[in-house]
Amino acid sequence: MHDHNHTHAGELQFVDCQGHALTATNEAAAQPGGGRRRQVIVAGKRVKTIDVHAHCVIPKALELQGKDHTKERGPDIGYVGARRLREMDEQGIDVEAISINPHWYMEGRDKAVEICKINNETLAELCAAHPDRFVGFAALTLQAPDVAVQQLEHAVKKLGMRGAAIGGSVVGDEFANPKFDAVWRKAEDLGILLFIHPQSTPELNNRFKGNGWLANTIGNPLDTTIALSHIIFEGTLDKFPGLKICSAHGGGFLPSYAPRSDNSLRVAPEMDTGVKLKKKPTEYMRDMYYDTLVFTDEALRHLAHEVGVERLVIGTDHPIPWQADSINHVLNCPHFNDAQKRMMLGETAGKLLGISQEF
Ligand SMILES: [Zn+2]
Repeated sequence: MHDHNHTHAGELQFVDCQGHALTATNEAAAQPGGGRRRQVIVAGKRVKTIDVHAHCVIPKALELQGKDHTKERGPDIGYVGARRLREMDEQGIDVEAISINPHWYMEGRDKAVEICKINNETLAELCAAHPDRFVGFAALTLQAPDVAVQQLEHAVKKLGMRGAAIGGSVVGDEFANPKFDAVWRKAEDLGILLFIHPQSTPELNNRFKGNGWLANTIGNPLDTTIALSHIIFEGTLDKFPGLKICSAHGGGFLPSYAPRSDNSLRVAPEMDTGVKLKKKPTEYMRDMYYDTLVFTDEALRHLAHEVGVERLVIGTDHPIPWQADSINHVLNCPHFNDAQKRMMLGETAGKLLGISQEF
């Protein structure tokens, strides 16, 4: 029934890896994942769909901290192989940009360097095994910014990484802290994407107790909101106007209540520390990028209204099952035209990550 799954936005098909339409008899062997690959077409033209928010862990790196990868959330998150490809094929994700959530910021310098080395080298190998399906974000030892600068350059120039995945802060230090300037300068020079993925807000753990998994439900979007607010209000984006930042979960809570940031220092001018911003806070929000993991048509419409539809890219959280179908969320959303859908589904991410729309 999925072979000709029509929507008002465009038609969907399954194809094999050469782009040929599949029949029921040959589909099983057609893909490395063992399934059928959904083809996403908007207004008669195929889109190479790109997911900027996909996780993995590297078992060997976790072992250095005495951790077991099978305990990590997300089925088979420790593997980049057939199951992942099959699930991408089913949903219609052509390329995943894979990140490893930073689990090493609390470690000492030497151990953190070793963990990042294993993470980066292994992720680069996994991506190289399917270069048309996976690209990687580098792991950085941000608690040692001088090392992080070298890691970033090495990861991009030697390992083929397309960006770096960072948390929401580094053991209490905000990204707006000048100690990180050298890292952001390097990221700007290299023209790569920084993917911000929150790590909850551990300072509030006591208040997150109880039902609802609040440390994640609200702790994660709050972490992103705090990280981006400091980047905006401390003038980090004035210092590094070419810096490309993409935040998970639609930028957390920040875009949903954006205008408050434009009014706070008007209400309380005595709270102005003297940072001279070149623009209004909400204008900086429109200089950054955000994934589409906001669940509903209305949330996506509002996010696009606040930050600009050209700033949105698909984010699935795969293999953690937050959203069942990120492609259809965009494809079936009534608030966007075909050109805007194409941008969100893959064109914008392709430009950010250096992935051609050609197959
Ligand atoms: Zn995630």
